[in-house]
Amino acid sequence: MLDFSDLPRFDLIQPEHVKPAITTLLADGRALIERLTAESTPATWADFAGALSVGLEPFGRAWGVVGHLHSVNDVPAWREAYNEMLPEISRFHSELGQNLKLFDKYRALKANPEYATLSREQKKIVDNEIRDFRLSGAELPEEQKPRYQAIMEELSQLAAKFAENLLDATNAFAEIVTDEAQLAGLPDYARDAAREAAEKAGVAGWKFTLHAPSYGPVMQYADNRELRARLYRAYATRAAEFTDGSSRPEWDNTPIMNRILELRQEDAQMLGFANFAEVSLQPKMADTPEQVLAFLRDMAAKAKPYAAKDIAELKAFAKDELGLADFQPWDAAYVSEKLLQARYAFSEQEVKQYFTEPKVVGGLFQVIESLFTVKVKPDTAPVWEPEVRFYRIETPAGELVGQFYMDLYARETKRGGAWMDEARSRRRAGGGMQKPIAYLNCNFAPPVGGKPATFTHDEVITLFHESGHGLHHLLTRGEELGVSGIHGVEWDAVELPSQFMENYCWEWEVLQDMTAHVETGEPLPRALFDKMLAAKNFQSGMMTVRQIEFSIFDMRLHCEFDPKGGRPVMDLLREVRDEVAVLVPPEWHRFPNSFSHIFGGGYAAGYYSYKWAEVLSADAYAAFEEAGSPFDATVGRRFLDEILAMGGARPALESFRAFRGREPSVDALLRHSGMIAG
Ligand SMILES: [Zn+2]
Repeated sequence: MLDFSDLPRFDLIQPEHVKPAITTLLADGRALIERLTAESTPATWADFAGALSVGLEPFGRAWGVVGHLHSVNDVPAWREAYNEMLPEISRFHSELGQNLKLFDKYRALKANPEYATLSREQKKIVDNEIRDFRLSGAELPEEQKPRYQAIMEELSQLAAKFAENLLDATNAFAEIVTDEAQLAGLPDYARDAAREAAEKAGVAGWKFTLHAPSYGPVMQYADNRELRARLYRAYATRAAEFTDGSSRPEWDNTPIMNRILELRQEDAQMLGFANFAEVSLQPKMADTPEQVLAFLRDMAAKAKPYAAKDIAELKAFAKDELGLADFQPWDAAYVSEKLLQARYAFSEQEVKQYFTEPKVVGGLFQVIESLFTVKVKPDTAPVWEPEVRFYRIETPAGELVGQFYMDLYARETKRGGAWMDEARSRRRAGGGMQKPIAYLNCNFAPPVGGKPATFTHDEVITLFHESGHGLHHLLTRGEELGVSGIHGVEWDAVELPSQFMENYCWEWEVLQDMTAHVETGEPLPRALFDKMLAAKNFQSGMMTVRQIEFSIFDMRLHCEFDPKGGRPVMDLLREVRDEVAVLVPPEWHRFPNSFSHIFGGGYAAGYYSYKWAEVLSADAYAAFEEAGSPFDATVGRRFLDEILAMGGARPALESFRAFRGREPSVDALLRHSGMIAG
């Protein structure tokens, strides 16, 4: 664990190494800070800021490995090792944030004539540090600091508990089907996976769970309405007060949410802000909660007529064609699939046969290679699961640019969803350059029956999305840790490269080379692609208002909701739904209890950033459309130079303007989503 010479030693690292290693690194870190903040240390870049960031890097990398293993291998031993150190880590970060000597040294560096001679990156880091110190309570009166620190520690424990409750509740549920007739409508791959899951669990029949690869197909394809209803209910009540599904009272996230909101509000007030949303927006591209809400409501207003049309169509189809007069939420995905098939005569299931893992991964690499003039090659490294792959990116001349792990399949011990994380960042090191390393994690169904894994088109889009994050991290030209890759990039601009990459999943030129039918090896037929394209904006109105519903709920929770006022968070969600939603879930649906983004992750008062970044990414891609080719070399070079390579070295809006030559416009997104003509 303490070997930082190159790649993390996943072949050797054990949970019992965590405590001694992290304890040592924390002690080293504290000694370093002591030395660098001494009177005698000059407030210069080399003596202070540069030395600090490089000196704390080993701790960051080691704890990054622990966090990664906690996410991809959440067995009891790793969970325990992670949780045992969490309060220590939180205390250390809090100490850093509260260390007035560091704050003073940064301010002295800013006041030092040397500041004017620093590189753009170095200046940005100093400015960010000063801002973050203010935001983490460095200027609080001495007597308030212990309270502030206690809030931070409790918040990080609550976030971890929120995620664990959700995972435990998800894992606790199993639906065992023993009568094959109950599986009508389900595609073979879902049956096979359920059969294998049952065998693994030592039971007869088919086992379905609330994990996406199992839950998704049931909701979408199972003719059995009661089966769908049972799974829907269990899924919707995870980590809530109900116990008829899979949850237990001790996994109820309701009190945790209230406590989190209370503590965030207290945090904001201590820092002199009216609410937590204001705190959250300080380091972001957007300025105020009002500005964000206005942006969201503007989009909602434009999308809602389309959403209303979508739902009316869905209900009419359910009634007329499927005999479902009393349309229910657990019918939504199922009826949508049937409507999609009726209208466009193709199913995701059919499409899935063409997206085999080797073709998809190869196709992704081709896109990256032609857009950014690099080579992606297989590489070797110790991994945490035998199925994990490792690759390297090189320049055409063979120089190493960066490396990345790819962990594609769902496992019981793996956190849900898909995400990119960093293992190491690019920076100047000695006479050369330390190269970046990234983790790409997904939750796709693993291969079954000796055939290659096949992905839905949505999953392919997810893979491209996470690769976009990866490229932001890997193709940076940053030379200083603090603004290298995704470091220092405003939260609401972070999704620009990821959502930008999704566009390539819709280019015929790309899909031709990226597909081979799992049985016949044939590429995706043009006729099928045309149908996919025609269906692309199917229900885009409904999906847009859904994202906006979550975004407004999140923003209002953090700018106007009073967690001590006795009003349940569900109440606010209902109010938001009244404003923007067209498909209202049942009374007992507990969406907030599984809203990990804002309670278990870092998206509090920041969920809007997905839509915000969609505007930016659609507008960026439109630059390629205007140039006449998705691989236009000049535009590709400019995207690399002005956005990816730049990382956090300058404000995202400036980078966008440098790339596009103007302010962002919402037109491209609305056009791409079929919501305005053009
Ligand atoms: Zn993303």
